[in-house]
Amino acid sequence: MKTIKFAVLPGDGIGPEVMAVTLKVLKAVGERYDFSLDFEEADIGGIAIDNHGTAFPDSTHALCQAADAILFGSVGGPKWESLPPVEQPERAALLPIRKAFSLYANIRPGLLYAELSEASPLKNNRIPSGIDLVCIRELTGGIYFGQPKSTYEEDGESVAIDTMVYKTSEIERIAKVAIDTARARGNKVCSVDKANVLETSVLWRKVVSKYFAEHAPDVELSHMYVDNAAMQLARDPNQFDVLFTENMFGDILSDEMGVICGSLGMLASASLGATVNRLDLPFGLYEPSGGTAPDIAGLGVANPCAQILSAALMLRYSFGENEAASAIETAVRTAVTGGSRTGDIAFGKPAISTEAMGEAILKVLP
Ligand code: NAD
Repeated sequence: MKTIKFAVLPGDGIGPEVMAVTLKVLKAVGERYDFSLDFEEADIGGIAIDNHGTAFPDSTHALCQAADAILFGSVGGPKWESLPPVEQPERAALLPIRKAFSLYANIRPGLLYAELSEASPLKNNRIPSGIDLVCIRELTGGIYFGQPKSTYEEDGESVAIDTMVYKTSEIERIAKVAIDTARARGNKVCSVDKANVLETSVLWRKVVSKYFAEHAPDVELSHMYVDNAAMQLARDPNQFDVLFTENMFGDILSDEMGVICGSLGMLASASLGATVNRLDLPFGLYEPSGGTAPDIAGLGVANPCAQILSAALMLRYSFGENEAASAIETAVRTAVTGGSRTGDIAFGKPAISTEAMGEAILKVLP
């Protein structure tokens, strides 16, 4: 029997609650689809600060390095907000782990079932059949990482500088992810940039156009300026199949996509690394799109679906277990559309606990 080896980093707040349910689902899926789980848990974020004095301890790094993928909860919370910004969990754990494993490709499905359309702030008549698109965001380049980056004094006032920088090779490798994603869906990519103003966007558009022409003439490619893309996403999200963009634009657009798709409790994400694992598949980190939800942490009412769907992405991308991944996605959809709902997506239906949601998903697992 195949064994899948992954590191489990539940993190803070609702992280451990939704992770416990997710591991139960993974175990059941493994039994049904003939693989066993080999995982160890480690601290990251606030809990790691409490237990080890640092948000991303060496022992956690080592555990991740020995694994083929990382299943991540979320980090942060009010307890650690008074620390200096560079020591706070998000900055001291999330950015370093992305960097440590060269997690350059963020894949965020924006999926809203028609039955949950009232969860969206968009009018129902705009999204009669729900929403279904994917945002591909470059995650390790652009203005967040470019140098120089500093604040200095000049002529008696403070001046700050950030640098936006992209190389052809960085653009090509993320273009490949967009192509692969589109081929598994509607074969349509909209590349978003600001090529009327930014040099990096001129290069982005040129490299993307050439790469698609050479490697994916079968995939329909269009280009859109980021300001227009932000409007179009709110006006008619289903005009997009794969929305593809650089780091900062993707940060903003993927959050907008999250909002129009309703609850953060339903949205999964995958961040693929530049290296391959022992199965010759991408090493990746898989996490819900939301945070630690301190307002409901400890109450056992958080929606585990985003974490469970993130585990499905892990099975698909890092372990090649496509059937098992699809089984999880089908089970979540069947359970939720069948009326099993945590409080964030209840809308008049009785709200059930995190654990009961997990049970409902297990009951309909194909
Ligand atoms: P949040 O996503 O934690 O919560 C926003 C709202 O969404 C809350 O009302 C919360 O209850 C709800 N929500 C989120 N996930 C849910 C789920 N699974 N089920 C039901 N409801 C859910 O965002 P925030 O309040 O801005 O941040 C809280 C903490 O999380 C902060 O410390 C922040 O830094 C951290 N954070 C971490 C990550 C990460 O680890 N990747 C991402 C975002 C925020």
